[in-house]
Amino acid sequence: MHFKDLGLDQRLIKKLNHLAFDKPTEIQQTAIPVAILGKDLLASSKTGSGKTLAFLLPAMQRMYRCKPFTRRDPRVLILTPTRELAKQVFAQLRTLIAGTPYDGALVVGGENFNDQVKAFRKDPMFVVATPGRLADHLEHRSTHLDGLEMLILDEADRMLDLGFEAQLRRIHEAANHRRRQTLMFSATLDHTDVASIASDMLNAPKRISIGHSAEQHTDITQRFMLCDHLDHKQALLDKILETEDYDQLIIFTATRADTERLTKELNERKLKAVALSGDLNQTQRNSIMSQFERDCHKILVTTDVASRGLDISKVSHVINFDMPKHAEEYVHRVGRTGRAGNKGDAISLVGPKDWKSFKNVEAFLQQKITFTTIEGLEGKFKGLKPAPKKKFHKKPTSKKPTAKKAVPSASKPKKKMDKRFYDNMAVGDNVFIPKKKKPANPTSED
Ligand code: ADP
Ligand code: MG
Repeated sequence: MHFKDLGLDQRLIKKLNHLAFDKPTEIQQTAIPVAILGKDLLASSKTGSGKTLAFLLPAMQRMYRCKPFTRRDPRVLILTPTRELAKQVFAQLRTLIAGTPYDGALVVGGENFNDQVKAFRKDPMFVVATPGRLADHLEHRSTHLDGLEMLILDEADRMLDLGFEAQLRRIHEAANHRRRQTLMFSATLDHTDVASIASDMLNAPKRISIGHSAEQHTDITQRFMLCDHLDHKQALLDKILETEDYDQLIIFTATRADTERLTKELNERKLKAVALSGDLNQTQRNSIMSQFERDCHKILVTTDVASRGLDISKVSHVINFDMPKHAEEYVHRVGRTGRAGNKGDAISLVGPKDWKSFKNVEAFLQQKITFTTIEGLEGKFKGLKPAPKKKFHKKPTSKKPTAKKAVPSASKPKKKMDKRFYDNMAVGDNVFIPKKKKPANPTSED
C-alpha cells in the first residue's frame, strides 16, 4: 500500500515523497481514510507506530479540500499532555505546512502568555497546545473555537490522568458545534475515564485498535530484575550502563529528587547524563530536550513527564529505575525506544517498593513476567507474598501470631485476584481495628 491509495491530496503525496515517507504504517492505513471522510475516531496503536502523521495528514487534507467555517478562528487544534510532546508534534506539523499558505502556533504552559496572545492575533489555522494553557487563553478570550473544524487529542488518557478533564471539557464546550470532527489517539485507550469523556466529546466514533495495548511490542526486548534495596538498584544500574551497548538511554525514576540525585552520580562518573523534570522552568526544559535530541547527552534521567510520545530515534535503551505508578505508563515509557521499526531494549528494576506497581504492570500486560539476573548481583528479594485474606471473624489464638503464620497459603492460586494483593500489605498489617478508633496517623501512598 502507498500513501496515494489512502485518498490523500496530490500535494500531500508530493510532500510525503519529499520527506521520504514511502509507505503508510498500519495505523495510518486504517485511520487516514476514515478521518478524511470527516468521521470521529478513537484510535490506538502501539508506541512508535506513526500516530502523529495519522492525524496530521487528515488535518492537512482538510486545509486543502475544505473551506474554513470562519475567517479568524483556528481550524485545527491538537492537544497533548506535555509541553515536550506538543513541541514535537508542532515540529512535525511544520514540516508539513512549510511552503503552504497554512500557519500554526504552539501554545504551551511555561512560555510567555502575551507572546501567545500575539500569536493568536495572527489567526493561526493550526494550534498545538497543552490543555491547561489553552483553557487559560479561552478564559482570557485570546482565541475562540467557534470555527474549529478538528479537535485532536493525542495521548488523551494521559491528559485525564494528569487531571485535565475540566480543561478538556471547557475546550470541548467552546468548540461544541455539529460540524466539528474529533480524533483521539493513544497507545492506551482502555481507561474507563477515556470511555466517559469519549462518549461526551466524540460523535459516533469509529474505533480503531491496531493490536491490544497490552500486546508485547516485538521490537522491544523487555527485561525485569529484582533488587533488594536502593544500593542494589544502583549497583545493577552501574552494571547495565557498563555492559549494555547503548546509543542513547532514558532512565525513568519515581520522583524529581531521584532524577537529580542519579544524574549527579552519573556525571561524577563522566557518563554525560542530564535530568529533565517538571519543576524546571520551560527554558531549561527546552534546552535539555534539544541538547538530548542533538546527542549532547547520552543519558536522560526523567520522570513520567517524558513517558509519552517523545520520538528520539537514537534512544536504544529505556531503564525503569523505579516502576511507574500507573501501569499504562510502563507501556509508554518503554515505547520511547523501538520506534518506527527499530529495535530497542527496556530493563525494569523491581524492588520491594516497586512490587505493587510491578504487579499492576504484570496484570496490565496480561502475562507472567519472569526475572533475569546479572551474575554476581543476584539479590535476596523474590517479591512480596499476597496479602492475607481478611478473616476478621477468626478468634485470636492464645499464642502471639508470628509474621509467618499471618500469611495464608500463598501457593493456592485464586481465580480472582484479591484486591489487597495489589495493596502491597506487608505481612502482619492485616490487624483488626475497631470501627470507633480512628488511626492516629493515617498513611496514604499518595
Ligand atoms: P506514535 O505517536 O505512534 O508513538 P510517532 O508518530 O511519534 O509514533 O512516529 C514514530 C516515528 O515513526 C517518527 O520518527 C516518525 O517520523 C516515523 N514514521 C511515521 N510514519 C512513518 C512512515 N509511514 N514511514 C516511516 N516512518 C514513519
Ligand atoms: Mg505519539
